[in-house]
Amino acid sequence: MSAPSTTTAPSTTEYLSTSELSTLSSKAIAAKALAHCPYSHFRVGACLLTTTGEYVVGANVENVSYPVGTCAERVAIGSAVAAGHKSFRAIAVATDITPGASPCGMCRQFMREFCKPSFPIYMYDRDGKYTMKTMGELLPESFGPEDLPPPPRKET
Ligand SMILES: [Zn+2]
Repeated sequence: MSAPSTTTAPSTTEYLSTSELSTLSSKAIAAKALAHCPYSHFRVGACLLTTTGEYVVGANVENVSYPVGTCAERVAIGSAVAAGHKSFRAIAVATDITPGASPCGMCRQFMREFCKPSFPIYMYDRDGKYTMKTMGELLPESFGPEDLPPPPRKET
């Protein structure tokens, strides 16, 4: 599978219905209010849409020991996995800056565990405007679960 062209973003309907995208974005934007960010004051909300049609939110959770903090995307994915979901259709990430922030490198690899290169990532700015990039665009030539060789066979 090759990464899609980066020149033009696919239309909204290629991945989600208008209604699904509207719900996904409003939940990601609302999740900013859940952020625990007393140090950076940089609120991030995220929302995942599962293949079973459920929405799972996350927010960044900072820590007084700064590197221990966790990003909204990883909180959302961890919450989803803990609720029994490992298959997703899209994620939205919302911040209070313009243009909207894109997921950090650690989150990109974390998402790649569950998301194929064609997976859409919607990034919302402070005004609710978004840009969309695919997993493959944000993490080209990635190392995913399908790249790991099968475990060695046991001698019998
Ligand atoms: Zn991150």
